[in-house]
Amino acid sequence: MRIHRLSQALINKIAAGEVIERPASVVKELMENAVDAGATRIHVAVTGGGGEMIRVVDNGCGIAPGELELALTAHATSKLQDADDLFRVGTLGFRGEALASIAEVSHLTLRSRTADDPEGAQIEANGGRLSDVSPCGTPVGTTIEVRNLFFNMPVRRKGLRAAATELGHVKETFTRIALALPQIDFTLAHNDRPVFELSGTDRWRDRIATFFGRELAENLIWVESSQDDVQLSGYVAHPSHSRADNRMQYLFLNCRYIRDRSLQHALREAYRGLLLSGRFPIAFLNLAMPPEAVDVNVHPTKIEVRFHDAGRHYGQLLSTLRTKFLSTDLHVRVRGESEDPTGTVDERHAAALREQLVGWAKGKTAQWDVDAADEGEPDVQRSFEVGGESERRLEMTRLDRAWAPAGAGHGGGRRPDRREDVAPWDAGESDEAARAVAPGQSPPVGSSPRAVQVHNRYLVTENEEGLVVFDQHALHERILYEQLRARVGASQLETQSLLVPEPVDLSAAEAAAVVEHRETLSRLGMSVEPFGGDTVLISGYPAMLANLPPGEVLRELLGPLMTAGHEVKPDELLDDLLHTIACKAAIKAGDRLAPEEITSLLDQRHLVDHAHHCPHGRPTALVFTREELDKRFRRT
Ligand code: ADP
Ligand code: MG
Repeated sequence: MRIHRLSQALINKIAAGEVIERPASVVKELMENAVDAGATRIHVAVTGGGGEMIRVVDNGCGIAPGELELALTAHATSKLQDADDLFRVGTLGFRGEALASIAEVSHLTLRSRTADDPEGAQIEANGGRLSDVSPCGTPVGTTIEVRNLFFNMPVRRKGLRAAATELGHVKETFTRIALALPQIDFTLAHNDRPVFELSGTDRWRDRIATFFGRELAENLIWVESSQDDVQLSGYVAHPSHSRADNRMQYLFLNCRYIRDRSLQHALREAYRGLLLSGRFPIAFLNLAMPPEAVDVNVHPTKIEVRFHDAGRHYGQLLSTLRTKFLSTDLHVRVRGESEDPTGTVDERHAAALREQLVGWAKGKTAQWDVDAADEGEPDVQRSFEVGGESERRLEMTRLDRAWAPAGAGHGGGRRPDRREDVAPWDAGESDEAARAVAPGQSPPVGSSPRAVQVHNRYLVTENEEGLVVFDQHALHERILYEQLRARVGASQLETQSLLVPEPVDLSAAEAAAVVEHRETLSRLGMSVEPFGGDTVLISGYPAMLANLPPGEVLRELLGPLMTAGHEVKPDELLDDLLHTIACKAAIKAGDRLAPEEITSLLDQRHLVDHAHHCPHGRPTALVFTREELDKRFRRT
């Protein structure tokens, strides 16, 4: 076989194979060209899912009659001048091959007019063969009509799916571009019926709402941050809204839709502990950065890009979201179908109430501090009688520490010196909690109001906003988890040493996993050594799990250890283990709680981050707002 040059037609066809996969790819290229042409109105119409006909009409700058042929010629573009431009692409297109590719594999008509030309002109392409340019009447802007896509590529033509499927892809493409550019008017019609009609808006939330509904849009949280010359901005959904896959993660780079594994990972990390496993966050985020900070020329359809400093963007996304979540009320509110479809009134009202409440509570706390100082704190002694009692009891006494009972029967205890009797565990903040709800004081609404336990699993109480139902296990689990994490971080986790080390027989794989992750286990207060064969020896274990036999504790931890594998980062494993321990140590559904324990539990939730969700991402509390109750009881 001799080497010979490919014909331009064949080159175009090969390029078409890369860039034009299906009707949606044509829609993408044509819409992007319209955006690059500065259009403020872009109309897309398809028939037969796009396989029959795709038409994109824009009011952009248009193409001069003398350049129509060039526009359909491969490697002809108005968007790049020299090689340097390639490294600072500011337009959506730049390769100059899309129109030539599409023209090669369809019947294409291009009609266009610039503002400087008295009339427009038109050119046709039939499987790559170009007609002469002829004058035609057309408004300023460009109309491109593509019929019979892949008519001369039988394999591709056959590969097209049912019209409904292809239309689905067209809609997704349309959505990505229309989401990225809310100021532009867009319409999409299928078989002459309107699918989307979007008018330009300055409010991104409105554009999102037209695609995904008011209900989601009202549950979006605005985030933004700026690090040097990189601006991150957009919306992420409240954890009560999530998806079973990551397709609702709309990431944009300089208003170009992209997929990026690293950023998706950062997103998942940011929601760790706020979503159930198997659920994915919803996000609409744009990264704005100088074009030279990223290489968009790595993928034929440019859906993947290469950042020069991917690690930095990962960090920025993660920290921006985490910081935002810490300062956001993420409680789950129970709502029925709202009569007001926008729901904005309720939300704003609720937000205002919350703000008032927080301010009020802050102002009050100092005063209670003083009042509490003189009061006795009974039962404290009992709290520190270690041993004898079951650890569940110990666990409860830890809860006890934070309350100061308001009722009779507890009074009269000698007030011990605060410093000494404060367990290291409770040092600092929970000490404050003990003072916040002082005897004789009615607690602030929203801090520790009266609560009743129902079915030995839920705690029902009120706050300024309405009725709150807590899941006692989920809440306690989150509190313990956050406390544990803080202790592990400060290397202060108590180890309970065993007088007689306990041998535990494991399977070979389990023993290997335990030995491999010994370091991590020891950070949790779990001391293990190999003991020959598949037996390991436990010489110490986390004090807070003292109610469980050491062997059982180790077995509990095996789950995360075994799934961890060799690749795992110690911190991630540690986190999994903390979850396990918190879950084990927390009070269970079915545990009857004394009133003090309820109060204590509810108090402590103010001291930890993310108290609104358990570490597995289940909500710890549901809020039935008073408005919602009023509505349901037909009071409004
Ligand atoms: P690219 O977008 O990579 O430059 P294309 O093949 O998509 O390559 O388009 C070739 C050229 O045709 C563009 O550079 C632009 O000058 C012109 N063009 C294409 N579509 C439009 C449009 N809708 N409005 C104005 N000019 C257009
Ligand atoms: Mg283009």
